[in-house]
Amino acid sequence: MVYRRTLRREVACTGIGLHSGRPVRLRLIPAPAEHGVRFARTDVGVEIPATLAHIGGQDHATTLSSAGVSIGTVEHLLAALSGLGVDDVRVEVDGPEVPVLDGSAAPFVILLHEAGLRPLAVPRLYIKVRKEIEVVHGSKSARLRPADHFEVGYAIGFDHPLLRHQALSLRVTPRSFTEAIAPARTFGFLREVEMLRKSGLALGGSLENAVVIGETGVLNNKLRFEDEFVRHKILDAVGDLALLGHPLLGRLDATRAGHALHAAVAQKLLATPDAFELVPAGAHEVAAAAVATAPALRAAGA
Ligand SMILES: [Zn+2]
Repeated sequence: MVYRRTLRREVACTGIGLHSGRPVRLRLIPAPAEHGVRFARTDVGVEIPATLAHIGGQDHATTLSSAGVSIGTVEHLLAALSGLGVDDVRVEVDGPEVPVLDGSAAPFVILLHEAGLRPLAVPRLYIKVRKEIEVVHGSKSARLRPADHFEVGYAIGFDHPLLRHQALSLRVTPRSFTEAIAPARTFGFLREVEMLRKSGLALGGSLENAVVIGETGVLNNKLRFEDEFVRHKILDAVGDLALLGHPLLGRLDATRAGHALHAAVAQKLLATPDAFELVPAGAHEVAAAAVATAPALRAAGA
């Protein structure tokens, strides 16, 4: 049996919001079993559950909303929580965005390592994909299909000499997430950044929290991985699929997808009753929970 997990103790950090450019205080607080991941906007007193039903926007980042109040750029924190296997946590934020930090999930992984993880007395249930589900928008697609583990295969291609094609496929475990996915940063094209700024977005964006791709190369000094871009897309997908509310046993194959398509395929899965079932951990997950977590957390804190 694998049990639901929360944090051992409360942790906090401060950073700026990517779009507003304003400082935000983030607190991660242990929560009881079945609480799920819930965001609390302490500045306005509204709580927003991290579920597909609360998606409020997906333009460049995933926004959740409830009662007319929203919390933006949730996906990197959700990816870290899901990647390390945290089921129940209260996330307090005193502004409209989760801090962007370095544009990756690595600082959240370190924060979770600082908090430590604690099992709760309720078994964790997984969403096991039983039938293939696909969403296609022109040349973009996202497909979920049955698999014994949570796996992601991702391919991207842009009309830019640096980014014609990148593809990566991996099994997502706490260890692979920490080492291969969490450090990959958000990226954007210089021409796009200029447009976003003109419309009052990305005001907090800088080379400190995003990889910026110019006409002839990357403006930052160096990349963290040669294929950092596709790794970040996997990071985003892990964060968006966390909105299913249960860890996934299945494989996502995505081509040139993004937040909207990640959510659409997840929504289609939940809307197709014979395409999935809720199951307790199998032998694979029991072994993964026992073996993978400890070294992953050590690596994150190193
Ligand atoms: Zn992202």
